[in-house]
Amino acid sequence: MDREHFAALLKSKGLKVTNQRIGVLDVLSKSKDHHLTAEEIYDLVRLDYPDIGLATVYRTVQLLLELGLIDRINLDDGCARYEISSKTTENQHHHHHLICLSCGKVFSFEEDFLERLEGHIQESMGFRVTDHEVKLYGYCKECQERRQE
Ligand SMILES: [Zn+2]
Ligand SMILES: [Zn+2]
Ligand SMILES: [Zn+2]
Repeated sequence: MDREHFAALLKSKGLKVTNQRIGVLDVLSKSKDHHLTAEEIYDLVRLDYPDIGLATVYRTVQLLLELGLIDRINLDDGCARYEISSKTTENQHHHHHLICLSCGKVFSFEEDFLERLEGHIQESMGFRVTDHEVKLYGYCKECQERRQE
C-alpha cells in the first residue's frame, strides 16, 4: 500500500488527490489492527501534515466512508472507529474481530467459514448475501491465564 496506489484509487473515484486524503488512507493502512477513532487518525496524520485540522479529518473520513474506501466499525466501546476497507486492499475478504470482555483488547481474525452458510441461505431462502460482519466475544489468552493464577 503506497501513496501512488491511493492516488490512483482517489482518481478512479473521481476525487482530487489531496495530501489530507492520502494521509488518512495512509495512516489507516499502516495501523490496520488498531481501529482508530477520528481523533486518533488526526493525531497521526498531523505528524506528516501539521497544517491539517480536526474538522478536515472528520470530513475526509466521512467522504472516504461514503466511497467505501474505509469502513466504520463499532467495537462496543462507545467510539466510532475506522479501518481501511477490504475493497481498498488486495485481499478480498475483510477480517473480523474478537473482543475480550475482560481487558477490552480487540484481535483480528480472517477465516470465518461463512461462505458455506451464505451459499446455504441463498439456496434455501433465495436471499443473496453480499456482506457480513462478525464479532465474537470472550476472554483472551492472557486474561484466561491471569484468572487461573
Ligand atoms: Zn479490524
Ligand atoms: Zn483480555
Ligand atoms: Zn467474513
